[in-house]
Amino acid sequence: MENLYKQIIETIGEDPNREGLLKTPARAAAAMAELTEGYHQNVLDIVNDAIFESQCDEMVIVKNIELYSLCEHHLLPFFGKCHVAYIPNGKVIGLSKVARLIDVFARRLQIQENLTHEIAKTLMEVLKPHGVAVTIEAEHLCMRMRGVQKQNSVMVTSAMLGSFRDNPKTRAEYLAFVNK
Ligand SMILES: [Zn+2]
Repeated sequence: MENLYKQIIETIGEDPNREGLLKTPARAAAAMAELTEGYHQNVLDIVNDAIFESQCDEMVIVKNIELYSLCEHHLLPFFGKCHVAYIPNGKVIGLSKVARLIDVFARRLQIQENLTHEIAKTLMEVLKPHGVAVTIEAEHLCMRMRGVQKQNSVMVTSAMLGSFRDNPKTRAEYLAFVNK
């Protein structure tokens, strides 16, 4: 990957041998590897020791989890906040693990819609709750930096499964929390 970045630097008309750029291919390769490390991670390894029995059956909401990902169309970052909610059915998950689980999917090439859905689907699988809701609000640098119209727009996507999809009251309760 280092060599490929060197070629990119040459192709855009730069000199990869000038001092400031000497170590850039190695740094860029390391950064790209880190930002896509989700391909080598297994969700079950991350969450398994953090799932606990619980009699709680009230909605659990984790708001404003920081999110950074790469858009699969331009390889440019999109970033913002992720909100996650679920209604437990005997099991709850440690808070910090929710953030780690999000990163497993965010650290891949993504489109925001699929990322949102993958997080929701995975929580549904590992917790088997009554329902899951995931909302992502993100800014896309491929729009912001490239002079496309609507530069200041934030893209909002959500995925609702189980009772969040079927029960309007549950959905309304969730949306009220998230939009507060
Ligand atoms: Zn893009």
